[in-house]
Amino acid sequence: MNNYEQILETIPENVELVAVSKTHPADKIQEIYDLGQRIFGENKVQEMVEKHSLLPQDIKWHVIGHLQTNKVKYIAPFVEMIQSVDSEKLLQEIDKQAEKHERTINVLLQVKIAEEETKFGLEINEAKELFQDYMNGQYPNVKIEGLMGMASFTSDQTQVKKEFALLKQVFDKMSLQQNLETLSMGMSGDYLLAIECGANSVRIGSAIFGQRNLPL
Ligand SMILES: *Cc1c(COP(=O)(O)O)cnc(C)c1O
Repeated sequence: MNNYEQILETIPENVELVAVSKTHPADKIQEIYDLGQRIFGENKVQEMVEKHSLLPQDIKWHVIGHLQTNKVKYIAPFVEMIQSVDSEKLLQEIDKQAEKHERTINVLLQVKIAEEETKFGLEINEAKELFQDYMNGQYPNVKIEGLMGMASFTSDQTQVKKEFALLKQVFDKMSLQQNLETLSMGMSGDYLLAIECGANSVRIGSAIFGQRNLPL
């Protein structure tokens, strides 16, 4: 059994797997695709655009890293999901580009949950405000499907668990207003804990594809 099949065995059926293929070449992605995987995550626009042009058209591409506003236009025609919405400005631009392409773009709000200083992500209050604006009809061309978060990079499982539990709590609260479908938390090192804490989507890179050469 290869890495991918081994990972799949550990993931419950109701949990979505996003195979994080950043830095890995198209032929490696094709191998995983041939095993049945359809959702792939990338964090660089140019890389995603290139791979999208080279690979089967039924791949669902998820943006998982910080997205610059001026680059939304390049992926707007085909992107399935932008998991890393971390500002109002970005959400406005996604809405604008979605309208231009006469489609709805699915997004997750990325919420800061890590204790360590992280550059990107919304504070919980900001996420709640954006969601409220969305509920009031401000972004008619996007669909906010849920939340995404990254836990601290630490071996302290108690800390990681605390952070996942916090995001799950925010998710449940927002869901009372309107049912949210996706709670994306967990990577290669912590996805089992994330699932335990309520994640129904996990983003796994190195455990499937092996180590990346670049520190991304
Ligand atoms: C790279 C990345 C992942 C995957 O990380 P692995 O540790 O390789 O599984 C998941 N989420 C985000 C936001 C990433 O940037």
